Amino acid sequence: MRTEAAYCELVHDIVDRTTDALARVNDGPVRVNVPEERLTTVPLNREELVTLLTPPTATAEQILFAAADQVRRKAVGDAVHLRAIIEFSNHCERGCWYCGLRRFNHKLPRYRMTVDEVVEAAQAAVAMGFRTVVLQSGEDSWYDERTICTIIRRIKAILTPTSIPGQVAVTLSLGERPRAEYAAFRAAGADRYLLKHETADPALYRRLHPDMSFENRKQCLGWLRELGYQVGSGNIVGLPGQTVSTLAEDITLLAELDVEMAGIGPYIAHPETPLAKLAWGGVRGSSVGGDGGVGGGRGSGDGSDDGDSGGGSGGGDGDGGSGGDSRGNGARLPADAVTMTLRTVAVTRLLLPLTHLPATSALGTADPQGRQRALQAGANVVMPDLTPMRYRRYYEIYPNKICLFEDPRTCFSCLSRMVTGLGRYVATDPGHSPKWPPLAGKDGDSRQSDPDPARGQEQLPFTNLPTADSKRLPVTSH
Ligand code: SF4
Repeated sequence: MRTEAAYCELVHDIVDRTTDALARVNDGPVRVNVPEERLTTVPLNREELVTLLTPPTATAEQILFAAADQVRRKAVGDAVHLRAIIEFSNHCERGCWYCGLRRFNHKLPRYRMTVDEVVEAAQAAVAMGFRTVVLQSGEDSWYDERTICTIIRRIKAILTPTSIPGQVAVTLSLGERPRAEYAAFRAAGADRYLLKHETADPALYRRLHPDMSFENRKQCLGWLRELGYQVGSGNIVGLPGQTVSTLAEDITLLAELDVEMAGIGPYIAHPETPLAKLAWGGVRGSSVGGDGGVGGGRGSGDGSDDGDSGGGSGGGDGDGGSGGDSRGNGARLPADAVTMTLRTVAVTRLLLPLTHLPATSALGTADPQGRQRALQAGANVVMPDLTPMRYRRYYEIYPNKICLFEDPRTCFSCLSRMVTGLGRYVATDPGHSPKWPPLAGKDGDSRQSDPDPARGQEQLPFTNLPTADSKRLPVTSH
């Protein structure tokens, strides 16, 4: 465990390295594309990541969050991107141990929206001001390639209120599909695809997903990259048997995947899942001084583009952990999963400065101020649920989701108030990744104009980070 001063020195050093990395790909504070090497990361080894994830004091933790917030501002500006999620089917053919949509949950009423209903919901979201529509479902092959392509084409044809066609981005979150289907969706106009890796621990992944494989998950992510999607992935925080080192591996994998978006959320157990009925586990401290005891976990599957679906392997490996606190409403939450999630978001921002990071609904469910806290610790995206009210309650990956009964018609204005209350502003463009599209070639100049010119007008020199000690100290361990 490092001293507070040594920890803060490490944070400052990483911020400096991040600044240098941005300067190498940037003429200004924000650049739309990056060079061919797609430099998005400041190299950090596992020990550094584990150290960052385990600040020794509350002051050190606040310095981490402040550093992430400043890197966020430097890299992607003050804009907050609002993405409208439409959860069009809660049928799922999988049996993930943590997810209330699993096919074995026979207590859950199931629904499928028609093509017209999906398009109407998307149209309503666009009319409200959203410029990205996220189409999300369980793994439901009832929606075949042709049906999904029809939905994509119809949504892409929606005219915005300013009569500018094509200004609506479509993100898919449908789970694992054959490469040919991913290709067809892309050809139909899909811009982005979200497929969380859940956990970078292959053994834990197997326990959570008895009918899936980590290798295939990564294969799908590779296909999505090859096909030119903006790729989103993400991980669960708080899995039983998980260590802080595992979370470091999650962040490293996100960097290796060079994701355009990363959804990171805490676990909230669904009572009708095997995991919820098993012993509560916890994130254990690491050999380099991790803090122990983030018990439980919440994960994500394809049913959770913003990091919402819950995951957590339950005690199959005998890892007992701290008891989660009972919220008295069917949702179990480990005492400090929110904090560990915030730390993971913050460290991910330091490592992946140009990646979109949502303040997940799960954080907002776990903590009434969770989304706001994430937006102040590196996040720059919020993904509200715009599923029609008559269906929304049945997309129950975990219980008691935030804003479950909020009228979609008020959603945009409500979130706008939240964003402006933080001194930020709501982006008015589709919010494509600053890393996308990749440059055509080494010598090509495919830099684009910033679609959000208000973004990044201010250069931040990183000179006003709080310090534990005004004197910068050498990085040491005690
Ligand atoms: S996490 Fe995704 S694939 Fe797994 S059961 Fe839930 S919706 Fe289905």
